[in-house]
Amino acid sequence: MKIVVIGGVAAGMSAAARTRRLDETAEIVVLERSQHVSFANCGLPYHVGGVIKDRDSLLLQTPQSLKASLNLDVRVGHEVRGIDRQRKSVHVIELESGREYDEAYDKLVLAPGATPIRPNLAGIDHPGILVLRNIEDMDRIKTKVDKGAKTAVVIGGGYIGVEMAENLRERGLNVDLVEMADQIIPPLDREIARDLEIHMGEHGVVLHLGLAAASFRDAAGQVAVELTNGKVLVADFAILAAGVRPDTQLARSAGLDLGPRGGIKVNAHLQTSDPDIYAAGDAVEVSDTITGLPALIPLAGPANRQGRIVGENICGRDTSYSSTQGTAIVKVFDMTGGGTGAAEKTLIKAGRPYLKVYLHPSGHAGYYPGSAPMHIKVLFEPGTGKLLGAQVVGYDGVDKRLDVFATAIRAGMTVADLQHLELAYAPPFGSAKDPVNMAGFIGTNLLKGDLALWYAEDFPAKTVAGMILDVRSPQEFELWHIPGAVNIPLGKLRSQLDRIPRDKPVFVYCKVGFRSYLAYRLLRQRGITGVTMLAGGSLTFQSYHDSPVAPGQPTPEKPRASLPYAEEPAVPATASGGKTVEVDCCGLQCPGPIKRLKDEMARLSPGDQLRMSATDPGFIKDAPAWCLKNGHEIVRIHKEGARIEAVIQKGETIAKTTGVQASGRDKKTFVIFSGDLDKVMAGFVMANGALAMGSEVTMFFTFWGINALRKPGPQAAGKGMLDKMFGWMMPKGPDALTLSKMHMMGMGTAMMKLVMKQKRVESLPVLIASARAGGAKLVACTMSMDVMGIKPEELVDGIELGGVGAFLGEADESNVTMFI
Ligand code: FAD
Repeated sequence: MKIVVIGGVAAGMSAAARTRRLDETAEIVVLERSQHVSFANCGLPYHVGGVIKDRDSLLLQTPQSLKASLNLDVRVGHEVRGIDRQRKSVHVIELESGREYDEAYDKLVLAPGATPIRPNLAGIDHPGILVLRNIEDMDRIKTKVDKGAKTAVVIGGGYIGVEMAENLRERGLNVDLVEMADQIIPPLDREIARDLEIHMGEHGVVLHLGLAAASFRDAAGQVAVELTNGKVLVADFAILAAGVRPDTQLARSAGLDLGPRGGIKVNAHLQTSDPDIYAAGDAVEVSDTITGLPALIPLAGPANRQGRIVGENICGRDTSYSSTQGTAIVKVFDMTGGGTGAAEKTLIKAGRPYLKVYLHPSGHAGYYPGSAPMHIKVLFEPGTGKLLGAQVVGYDGVDKRLDVFATAIRAGMTVADLQHLELAYAPPFGSAKDPVNMAGFIGTNLLKGDLALWYAEDFPAKTVAGMILDVRSPQEFELWHIPGAVNIPLGKLRSQLDRIPRDKPVFVYCKVGFRSYLAYRLLRQRGITGVTMLAGGSLTFQSYHDSPVAPGQPTPEKPRASLPYAEEPAVPATASGGKTVEVDCCGLQCPGPIKRLKDEMARLSPGDQLRMSATDPGFIKDAPAWCLKNGHEIVRIHKEGARIEAVIQKGETIAKTTGVQASGRDKKTFVIFSGDLDKVMAGFVMANGALAMGSEVTMFFTFWGINALRKPGPQAAGKGMLDKMFGWMMPKGPDALTLSKMHMMGMGTAMMKLVMKQKRVESLPVLIASARAGGAKLVACTMSMDVMGIKPEELVDGIELGGVGAFLGEADESNVTMFI
């Protein structure tokens, strides 16, 4: 039997090698277009980055070694140009000599892989635009870097784009990464990818999310990449990592069937529509393990396993390939992230019901050095609890958990089964209750009704109807809290039960879900039935809502903190030659480090320094915010792996930085006089910003501004003629407001609303709901209402009424008053 294999890397070489191991007599010819076979394409980014120093170590085999060990006839530099299915032969060109010939086969294996997507954009052929698929591509990129390139733009934030961005940054280049989706690593859900995005920013990669390359042009030898928002990035070169598409050219021209997603269609034996032609790897369409839908999942593991199965079937065995679940992992500087099975967005798209839990356990025992929390999301079927997907990001032990989840999904296990897995444990490696067991406990609690959850996405639309209860410590609450939340620390909850409403929902939360679970159980057993707890706590909430910055701390400019993480500025001597105290809080979960910081600072004298280390990821934001509020100076703070090191100098006085802190009150008052859509929006944008910074907010609506608070629908009964006319002529509510300029009989306002929607700017009704949910006090001016004939019942519920005295009282207490 003669077997011809097209493509000599993952799938092709696996097919050829397995065939030889089962059939010593077969004639096996492997035709490979490039100059290398069986190379480690997954290692390519790391040779560019200098992690894999020896180029030859990527070349796992040569035609000679394969001849010697497996008696394979491997021909590199030989490209197949066509398949003649009637004559059962392929037409080949030897690229160097131009010689053309036909090669007959009994069985043909198609393993041509996938080709990088090159969008048809102006300037796409610029020589500075490179792709990374094989050794030759890698050499081209590495040569540029070795020759001193300083800047690069990576287009595409998938696994390969992210790996390239990391490796180029490691080589000292300034790197911009452009991704069309609003997140990196699109197979992950956004709130999980968010942790990796922040980490990339910390390492100086500038992310441009929600944007695509629109065109390219030459800029004095460099390449200028124009983005869809008009911004131009100029760099020494650009890497196109915008995804791949199955290479189906040969299959298509040979008349083989393709699947609905555009890959080569194969049956369970990986046979194409021609029984003498098999196909495997990135070129084929597979069935998705969870949804059962046809899918393109270009990964090395499936390609290798499929190649092996092809070899078995060619040799007469009956071996099936079932499905691909998309288990993938990526290193992002010091972090690791990945997923297996379906993401939440995939389940939503497939219309598949699901439940989900989040958790933040440590990679290994907190008391053993080097541990850090991870962010885990597990999706499973309601009712049965059958596992549907899992995603994990963190520092240590991410790969181990992902693989356990992947195995459990493949085995058809349920979330309850995870509770009973007996996993390897000693302090350097895990916890007696492994994170996977913990996911099982939480998921089973949810299935059994021992737990009811609310989710970050429920804020503010659902939470507005109830009380958000924060059971963390006052210090944590002061640093950051969900707008509108009430703080009753867990330890005080039993004695303050009278503060918990019984007639409306209670949305309890803490940092990761442990204290809130205790609070939840307590409240349920005390008869408070409307209670739910926040899945994943404030850590997941912040990842979802993009709000990891504590109030009082300026939002860092991108690239975030690239310098402090890379360099270690010298620590100045203490101001008054005071003492230095060292404290190691590694492994302590929040609020441990911040409490310890507070206690230690209380013991020090002004001018003394505290050198503190912690692994709680929130500490890098919490410590500066706490110091700012309390008048201490952060001399240095940086992160090395999961470890955060801070040097803090005790200040002379408490809270000396702003008048707000000195007066102990941070309050902003807004006077909304205008009824123009754009102006009212500006007012609410600022109000929401102030709330997010921990400020109290009062908004005083007078004259035209009152229209923003009006309900749609008929006017109140009993109004005089003039009042009624006023009522008809004025807009009713936020949806009816119009632009101050360019209204153009409604066209301009409609266009503005459309653009806002496209650019994901929140609408005025959402901004109003969010400000109210955040605790903003909305006051309507009674004098203006009287003049304009507006009755209280014509306003939306929950609006306070007040006169000039009320306004002046509020303004007196505020440190800022704005008139809009
Ligand atoms: P390939 O490995 O691409 O091999 C196809 C071969 O066919 C090519 O060498 C091509 O030259 C040859 N060929 C095509 N047409 C012809 C023709 N007409 N005649 C002759 N020869 C032809 N996956 C992971 O799971 N984890 C990772 O970390 C990972 N990292 C990656 C990093 C990079 C930079 C790249 C490029 C890929 C990575 N992948 C990773 C994906 C993984 O490498 C692929 O899924 C896998 O190699 C697919 O195997 P394949 O045999 O189908 O195709």
